[in-house]
Amino acid sequence: MTTALAPGGPTLAQRRLLVTEIPGPRSRALLERREAVVAPGVGTVLPVFVERAGGGVLVDVDGNSLIDLGSGIAVVGVGNAAPHVVEGVREQVERFTHTCFMVTPYEGYVAVCEELARLTPGSHAKRSALFNTGSEAVENAVKIARAHTGRQAVIAFDHAYHGRTNLTMALTAKNMPYKHGFGPFAPEVYRMPMAYPYRWPTGPEQCGPEALAAVTGAIDAQVGAGNVACVVIEPIQGEGGFVVPAPGFLSGLAEYCRRNGIVFVADEVQTGFARTGDWFACEHEGVVPDLVTTAKGIAGGLPLAAVTGRAEIMDAVHKSGLGGTYGGNPLACAAALGAIRTIEEQDLCAAARRIGATMLPRLRALQDRCPAVGDVRGRGAMVAIELVQPGTTTPDPAATAAVAAACHRAGVVVLTCGTYGNVLRFLPPLVIPDHLLDEGLMVVEQAVVALGRPGLT
Ligand SMILES: *Cc1c(COP(=O)(O)O)cnc(C)c1O
Repeated sequence: MTTALAPGGPTLAQRRLLVTEIPGPRSRALLERREAVVAPGVGTVLPVFVERAGGGVLVDVDGNSLIDLGSGIAVVGVGNAAPHVVEGVREQVERFTHTCFMVTPYEGYVAVCEELARLTPGSHAKRSALFNTGSEAVENAVKIARAHTGRQAVIAFDHAYHGRTNLTMALTAKNMPYKHGFGPFAPEVYRMPMAYPYRWPTGPEQCGPEALAAVTGAIDAQVGAGNVACVVIEPIQGEGGFVVPAPGFLSGLAEYCRRNGIVFVADEVQTGFARTGDWFACEHEGVVPDLVTTAKGIAGGLPLAAVTGRAEIMDAVHKSGLGGTYGGNPLACAAALGAIRTIEEQDLCAAARRIGATMLPRLRALQDRCPAVGDVRGRGAMVAIELVQPGTTTPDPAATAAVAAACHRAGVVVLTCGTYGNVLRFLPPLVIPDHLLDEGLMVVEQAVVALGRPGLT
């Protein structure tokens, strides 16, 4: 498609507008081309082909303007084509595009590591290493923890998602679609129960202390704390269902790690960079991780990831033990500096908290009206509803798919997640205008209410 394009970014008209069915004819034509050449293993949530995007909207090749409640999976928190990101990348792309930091370094990489040292939890000396994807960051965190401790075992949790590479598949809990048929998986990964309040057998009040006791007891009995290199945990689980661990679980786990010389790795790939209303979700409970993995929201859409951690842990790795051809690519670093500047200038932590303060009460009111809504949870602009068969806690993935499809037809991009496929999650750009958030929520509410009226979805 070669059309003269109006720019994307925040100046794009901020409205929902459907001018064709979804997907429209031009998207359908592209879909046909896609089917001929793109591997079908690469899925698509909503098959409209995007032409421009910015603020809270995606504009497709048919001219439909959709409300974005997904941010490309928590990536464009600063909005698509955010001005500081565009400026930074443009300036950089004209100077040079790649040298490989391991061959001849450049300032942008160092500047991003300085920002990571400043912004991640804790005031200790820190170092960072940059990579391209969240999976790569998690793999490298495990490598670093093993090098530092001389131990091998890695602890992961039920409902965890850490990526799709071989080691991170082993850490990821859900079989379909992430692992099925792709084994064998990396050894020395031990899975523990997650403090999942809604589904904790003795109820949410008991969940934190009981889950902590179950996990530490199982590590001691089955693995041996002295064999554990690291515990890897998402401070709020992403793909696994936006599970917010019961209060006290994360801090108790961090304390257990500290007592036993285990590296506590917070995977903040989805929760990081203001998404939950703090720079990092760990801050909410005052937890200071030993290592933090970041990606998604870090660079306004360019591929960048990082491991940031205590200097004494990071320094344990031998020279040239970490790296990769593209890790910390100069364009991605320029984008990250632009994204960080945007988060600070626009106080997007506060914006995320405002989004949560708008969404959570509305979704709780929806829960009161609709017995299919079993749970409403999240923090800041990372919010979800869990759909169940009314009167039970039995997951209802069919209802969840129906609600998502209804939202998509109405021009609102929503995502699903969860081990049981029954969680509808919302990750709006932190710069979404209030009127679009309201309208997007209204569409979601209508789709959920329609569940109780068969024939309408
Ligand atoms: C998305 C995600 C990853 C993997 O990141 P990729 O960039 O897709 O490799 C890892 N951990 C968490 C928590 C994620 O949400």
